[in-house]
Amino acid sequence: MAVQPGPDPVAVVTGANRGIGREVARQLADRGHHVVLGSRDLAKGERAAARIDPGGTRVTAMRLDVADAASVAALAERVTRELGRVDVVVNNAAILYDTWARARSADLDEVRRALETNLFGAWQVTQALLPLLERSPHPRVVMVSSKGGSLAGMTGGTPAYSVSKAALNALTRLLAGELRSHRVLVNAVCPGWVATDMGGGGGRPVPEGAAGVVWAATLPDDGPTGGFFRDGKPVPW
Ligand code: NAP
Repeated sequence: MAVQPGPDPVAVVTGANRGIGREVARQLADRGHHVVLGSRDLAKGERAAARIDPGGTRVTAMRLDVADAASVAALAERVTRELGRVDVVVNNAAILYDTWARARSADLDEVRRALETNLFGAWQVTQALLPLLERSPHPRVVMVSSKGGSLAGMTGGTPAYSVSKAALNALTRLLAGELRSHRVLVNAVCPGWVATDMGGGGGRPVPEGAAGVVWAATLPDDGPTGGFFRDGKPVPW
């Protein structure tokens, strides 16, 4: 069914059928955004959207596999046609927190797989939505990163994940610099250790981790760009 376009800002959240992404979608909808809830399995996305927005007016599930260029292009085409605007992109989808691996012996096919989703996924989603973002009065891009991608803190371990998030941080800096003149604020956010399927038990509650992402998605026009934050505070690259 086609989406009814309204006056509200539009936010696209990737990997939003569960975990931090779903909670970011909920918080952005509560703040008045129309949320495009990206999910590589549409049925799961529709269930997540219905949980957040039983009326079906504020959250629209759309199929999106960030690692599949055709899927990304199809989403961008549908959002352009049906909503005609994008104000916020939250690149949240990620895989492969490879706690079992070490850089010295890592399976490089696994590393490539992590890069396809965690780096190239975010990259191609942002590229595809850029024409709409650049028309927004308050465009924001959030790269959901991790302390694991901090060069300053790296001492070994989780090689696929850490390298993919360090590369995502580099992409954040490049896009922030290139899009500054278009007033697009691009920042990387570590949500902290969060109790999701990826984070496992013992982490902070999901709404707390999501709040730092939503902060970067809703920055005022004089807010920072090209930064790396946790809970709204800078963290070392
Ligand atoms: P999660 O519970 O594992 O959820 C990951 C989400 O990404 C799922 O919705 C998953 O969809 C989706 N996804 C994976 N590959 C995808 C693809 N190719 N296309 C579209 N969606 C895809 O993870 P999370 O803990 O919520 O993590 C969210 C973000 O926070 C990630 O970027 C992660 O690196 C970051 N982060 C998390 C923690 C933590 O402690 N949890 C800490 C630091 C950073 P499916 O359901 O289809 O698999």
